[in-house]
Amino acid sequence: MINLEKIKKDFPVLNQKVNGKEYVYLDNGATTQKPIQVIDAVADFYKNTNSNIHRGVHHLSNLSTKIYEDARAKVQKFINAEKESEIIFTKGTTDSINLVAFSFGEKYVSQGDEIIVSAMEHHSNLVPWQMLCERKKARLRILPFDKKGELELDKLADLINKKTKLIAVTHVSNSLGTVNPVKEIIKTAHEKNVPVLIDGAQSIQHQKIDVQDLDCDFFVFSGHKIYAETGIGVLYGKEKFLNEMPPYQGGGDMVDHVTLKKTTFLDAPFKFEAGTVNYVGAYSLGLAIDYVNAVGIENIAKHEQDLLQYATEKLLQIEGLTIYGNAKHKTATISFLLKNIHHYDTGMILDKMGIAVRTGSHCTQTVMDFFEISGTVRASFAFYNTFADVDRLAEGILKVKQMFE
Ligand code: PLP
Repeated sequence: MINLEKIKKDFPVLNQKVNGKEYVYLDNGATTQKPIQVIDAVADFYKNTNSNIHRGVHHLSNLSTKIYEDARAKVQKFINAEKESEIIFTKGTTDSINLVAFSFGEKYVSQGDEIIVSAMEHHSNLVPWQMLCERKKARLRILPFDKKGELELDKLADLINKKTKLIAVTHVSNSLGTVNPVKEIIKTAHEKNVPVLIDGAQSIQHQKIDVQDLDCDFFVFSGHKIYAETGIGVLYGKEKFLNEMPPYQGGGDMVDHVTLKKTTFLDAPFKFEAGTVNYVGAYSLGLAIDYVNAVGIENIAKHEQDLLQYATEKLLQIEGLTIYGNAKHKTATISFLLKNIHHYDTGMILDKMGIAVRTGSHCTQTVMDFFEISGTVRASFAFYNTFADVDRLAEGILKVKQMFE
């Protein structure tokens, strides 16, 4: 069970008034708020410990290095990776995907090859593959989705052929909330020896992730969407691929031996972590994982599913409101439009009532094109949200409607 009263106190941002009203934060899909345990520990780190990692023999450098590598071990455990060396710290989901698109692309993709993505990808899991295909004269193939917002899985097997080098698909759609059957996708792909990258930006904070059980070849996510700082992210990759893939960037800390003629590189994960990495961000991610573990990811999932059900029923009672994304399996994300009212207007008026939602295309213009709309209003929930937050949203939407009538 979740102790909401205690949890809400842990998140200082939530305990303020905006536009004179108690703040209701429903933009968790964009970024999550940070618990005081993370904020304070990071401040303490800068006060007492800060020193660059992997380079010094002195006390604080050793301590920083240990804290950084401990964070790697926490991530490994959290997603049940087989080895610590399969965890690479990056700047975030976008950075992780670009790393794979470049490095995997250099090693395995040639002219005429094919990459498959779905039509519901965030631009971060579409544009890097378009760029790779342009660079290599390869072909990007698209797995479509239907009106409910579910992938047309029956079309997948036909899309895969001998030229397919990788499938990159989101675990959860950020604009529709759909939880995709990634385990099934991975199984189908592996039957034809095709590796799969899972974009976990919108799943890592909502459900238990076990990369060995999924059997995915790559899994990527951002720290800031799971209660850690911005500027830190993770790329999980199976060792067999990481060993073969060339470095993405060159620089300090990723080299074995350097001469003016030639450089040899360290093994993964270090060969992919050039320069001074965001070691404080990694520390914050480890702390955020501790926090999530203390609450319990199963408890989080249960509470958020209860919120989703309550909010869906409540919003569907509002005449003229259409929900985009009605898949059977969803996270607590509701994209909607009010008849004849622009999403920006709805969002701006809700803001005046102290309710934060996101409006626009949510970096998924292809999804908006599919529904022939320019954008939606998106309410995305986290485990610190309450049923009272849902009531405030519903009341707010009714007021928006009244203002336009
Ligand atoms: N993929 C999905 C599904 C997302 O929702 C997001 C961000 O909203 C991203 C990728 C990009 O994440 P970031 O901006 O943290 O790199």
